[in-house]
Amino acid sequence: MPPPSLRLVVDTDALAANWRALDALSGKARAGAAIKADCYGLGVATCLPALRDAGCAQFFVAHWSEVSAALAHAPPAQIAVLHGPIAAAEAAYARTVGVLPVINSLHQARVWNEAGGGACHLMVDTGINRIGIAPHEAGDPAIAALEIDLLMSHLASADEDSAMNASQLAAFREVAAQLAHQRLSLANSAGIALGPDYAFDVTRPGLALYGGVPRAELAGPIRQVARIEAAVIQRRRLAAGDSVGYNATFTATQPTEVAAVSLGYADGFLRCRGPGAAMMLNGAHLPILGKVSMDMVVIDCSAAPNLAPGDWLEVPFHLPDAAQQSVLSQYELLTTIGARLRR
Ligand SMILES: *Cc1c(COP(=O)(O)O)cnc(C)c1O
Repeated sequence: MPPPSLRLVVDTDALAANWRALDALSGKARAGAAIKADCYGLGVATCLPALRDAGCAQFFVAHWSEVSAALAHAPPAQIAVLHGPIAAAEAAYARTVGVLPVINSLHQARVWNEAGGGACHLMVDTGINRIGIAPHEAGDPAIAALEIDLLMSHLASADEDSAMNASQLAAFREVAAQLAHQRLSLANSAGIALGPDYAFDVTRPGLALYGGVPRAELAGPIRQVARIEAAVIQRRRLAAGDSVGYNATFTATQPTEVAAVSLGYADGFLRCRGPGAAMMLNGAHLPILGKVSMDMVVIDCSAAPNLAPGDWLEVPFHLPDAAQQSVLSQYELLTTIGARLRR
């Protein structure tokens, strides 16, 4: 098979360094890692071993379908399933393979207890109103029957200086005083930057591990992890008046050297990332012209006169900058990375 014309380069040294930095910022707490959505699009098989070898010993997936990929690289007791057991089959599966469910409701507590129970985690909702038991449900017999390892909650606005952070912290402390547990866990990436009060025993960074910067405090310690590169397919010269791409949204006002590049919205380079953006070659900016197609974009290569088919270009993927430049969040930029890039 010939080599691909598109590549995702994951810097596992930077990933490991980010985990160590977040672990250090967590103070006396240990940092775990959110590895859901295939490590936010960067690949569990690439990322999980690097995180594990750096010292991470607590991993969070969202779906039951994500468990087997994680099990290939980490012991089952270190894998938590955030969505929890909705059906008996999921509880039975957790007990068979030894991963721990996060219990998110009285229904899930009953499902787990009826399957035979055992160690699990418990999510308490302190204001995000997604999943998790309500604090007033903590006294329910189904909850009392649980063998709780991590007692968790999740911050809604940790990336902002919101009064909600302190109120969720207070609600979490209150519920923690009522329920027996092994360890407490509240902070995601942004929550780690809120300081030691939020760290408890285990922190749960995701975004910042993979190079995202949800709060300014993390801009220094966090390194870029993912780079995307795409090859030039073909060059052409536009005459004044020639247009580019679907719906002819760009028209050249003078003769212009352009190139088609092997990257499109099917690869996660969504149409909203085209306008105003540029590909890079050794520091030269090559602006994107017209609409992003499914499999290609066209760039103005005036700044790289010798650009030739097969040359590699850097796609803008410094997450804070790329998010600023588009309507997408840093989370969406990562998790929309397409399958052709993941090989
Ligand atoms: C995804 C997730 C995290 C990680 O959040 P980041 O903002 O990516 O650091 C932590 N905890 C829970 C419950 C999550 O769902």
